[in-house]
Amino acid sequence: MSRLTRSKATAPLNLSERFEFKGRSNSTSVESQSNVQKRKVDENSATEEKKPKTEEIIKRGKNVKKDKNHSKSDEAAASKAEESCATKVEDIEDCCKISSPVKNAEEKVKWFPDNWEKVLSNIREMRSSQDAPVDDMGCHKTMDPEAPPEVQRYHALVSLMLSSQTKDQTTYAAMLKLREHGLTVDNILKTSDNDLRKLINTVGFWKRKVEYIKKTSAILKERYDGDIPNTVEGLMELPGVGPKMAHLCMTTAWNKIHGIGVDTHVHRISNRLGWVQKPTKTPEATRKALESWLPPKFWFEVNHLMVGFGQQICRPIGPRCSDCLNKALCPVGRTSSGSPKRKKKS
Ligand code: SF4
Repeated sequence: MSRLTRSKATAPLNLSERFEFKGRSNSTSVESQSNVQKRKVDENSATEEKKPKTEEIIKRGKNVKKDKNHSKSDEAAASKAEESCATKVEDIEDCCKISSPVKNAEEKVKWFPDNWEKVLSNIREMRSSQDAPVDDMGCHKTMDPEAPPEVQRYHALVSLMLSSQTKDQTTYAAMLKLREHGLTVDNILKTSDNDLRKLINTVGFWKRKVEYIKKTSAILKERYDGDIPNTVEGLMELPGVGPKMAHLCMTTAWNKIHGIGVDTHVHRISNRLGWVQKPTKTPEATRKALESWLPPKFWFEVNHLMVGFGQQICRPIGPRCSDCLNKALCPVGRTSSGSPKRKKKS
């Protein structure tokens, strides 16, 4: 019996569902930081306004006691009101001590990069033609849409394993060969290491990847009934699968977002744009930095957007800042001469 627990076999989204940028509204429903701050201050101001009214009630109670014509029931009611209001005043004073409007607003302020919504909107616009290598040959394009859902998920996982340190075009070509050979857990377990090597020896680090794919396939057969794990933790237990691959696999194979898939493009561009509060050294550190401020509803698209943007404009070497809509908003773009530069080969 399978140890994999999941509600149902969910087929991965088709491509147009997955990455729909054309004609997309750039507006966001995220409440701006300044609005949140303003609302907090307004709430606290309203609390402050209650205080004089409460004090007025106490004063009225004392006047009742001073009035010689008052009845006993008037006095009792006045005492009760005074006691009750005094408690409220203390409560309000305590509350005001803890959350003065200024302190409260300062505590609630979360770091956001300047103009991030505009920058994101500009990247969407620059990616609207959907003609980067990742759009035609990315991992989501390597799955056989005719295959059963669990086989498609296996395709997604193998494709991601092959894609490390490898161009999309090369990964795509290797995946076509594997699919032609028969890319199922059972068939790969039957395939000799040597035959598997011949099928994938164009990708980077193919020797290690042969080992990872064989070992992973054995684990999937034994522990997951031929399917793939449906959690980031489960995926990361597989040989050669790190956080980036696990998060991307959750998105591509299971249509679930558990984090941002940060590869070399997302890592580089986030640092160039100042989308990390402090410069980060690893993709994993960048993932954590991005997830600390980017609203989760944008996590799904950010990898695909930035990978294509990095392939076409914000390239690793010689970014095309002069063609970039973010030139005036980007710290690197503002200081660049505007003409693409390539590093000279020594
Ligand atoms: S201005 Fe240059 S460095 Fe900045 S995002 Fe655009 S291409 Fe990249």
